[in-house]
Amino acid sequence: MATTEGFRADWAQKDFYDELGVKKDATTAEIKKAYRKLARANHPDSNPGDTAKHDKFKAVAEAYDVVGDPEKRKKYDEMRELYGSGGFRGGFGGGGGFNLDDLLRDRGGAGGAGGIGDMFGDLFSGFGRGRTQSQPRPQKGADAETTATIGFTDAIDGVTISLRLTSDAPCPDCSGTGGKPGTKPHICATCEGAGFVVSGVGGAFSLNETCPACHGRQLVYDEPCPTCHGSGRGSSARTIQARIPAGVKDGQRIRLRGKGGQGEGGGPAGDLFVTVKVTPHRLFGRKDDNLTLDVPVSFDEAALGADVKIPTLGGAPVTLKIPSGTPNGRTFRVRGRGAKKKDGTNGDLLATVQVQVPAVLNEQAREAVAAYRAASEGSTLRSGLFEQAQS
Ligand SMILES: [Zn+2]
Ligand SMILES: [Zn+2]
Repeated sequence: MATTEGFRADWAQKDFYDELGVKKDATTAEIKKAYRKLARANHPDSNPGDTAKHDKFKAVAEAYDVVGDPEKRKKYDEMRELYGSGGFRGGFGGGGGFNLDDLLRDRGGAGGAGGIGDMFGDLFSGFGRGRTQSQPRPQKGADAETTATIGFTDAIDGVTISLRLTSDAPCPDCSGTGGKPGTKPHICATCEGAGFVVSGVGGAFSLNETCPACHGRQLVYDEPCPTCHGSGRGSSARTIQARIPAGVKDGQRIRLRGKGGQGEGGGPAGDLFVTVKVTPHRLFGRKDDNLTLDVPVSFDEAALGADVKIPTLGGAPVTLKIPSGTPNGRTFRVRGRGAKKKDGTNGDLLATVQVQVPAVLNEQAREAVAAYRAASEGSTLRSGLFEQAQS
């Protein structure tokens, strides 16, 4: 039998309340209690070889899975009510098929119970074989799109954020049927329950259009739902928790499965795409899985060599060994002190030296630099400029 998320077409034939030995209006707590008792009594572990008890165990588990879940229970109750508590034996739902023999037999037999036979009698003249659900065919919900701004460190470590989303959800009062709660629908007279009408577009061409009377729902209500005025749609805002994985980059688009718009007719929810903006860090930059850092060093440190202590992101400082004669702009790699990678290891910290020229010198320093100039007289620093300019 066909299944869609949270919705099984064969529910209509099963009395889950009876299976659990509870009343139809039992509370969730009562249902849970009854289930536990039956599950314990029929558990395969305590009843080896007893297939009857195994079957009962499976049956109560299935029943509890549905009526123990308020969402599913609501759908189940609606389905049972609409299709008349087991009077109909054909398949419902996408792929479930539609057995004409069963249909005809039910018209003559159990059809009297709950008016279900009449309903399908009308349907029968509308189309031979096809969709028999009161709801639209199961359809995946729409994908949604949003942006989120996270901190630099959160981007590296991963973070769970709250996202507030506004979406078109089914009207909560009529569950998207568009009908006044508590009233029963009829087969749409305009499309005879097909959900679409055929409109001629000049001669040989014809076009299937969604039925304007039932909006493709196949069923109509005498009284529209007062909340949504029959549209079946309710705009709602919801807050979801989304896990942003470690190592996300600025501008990256992340797909969160099943966090988009709700599906229709029991179909799965769509996906949510989050474009992540990462707030820059005051000190560290990011280059793929590596972190970058500019390290100011003095001329003498670069010339003579030095041990320079530098910070790391979220860790202890490390000492950078600058060899003598280090040019401005040289980058040193500190292994394992970068961003977390997908494989669990870390990228590197890329420290780039920026040789600084002091804006002011004290008397002693000025004399020392003057002495340095005197000592390095005859430097050929710019000789290359002129040779290359001539050629
Ligand atoms: Zn219609
Ligand atoms: Zn409504």
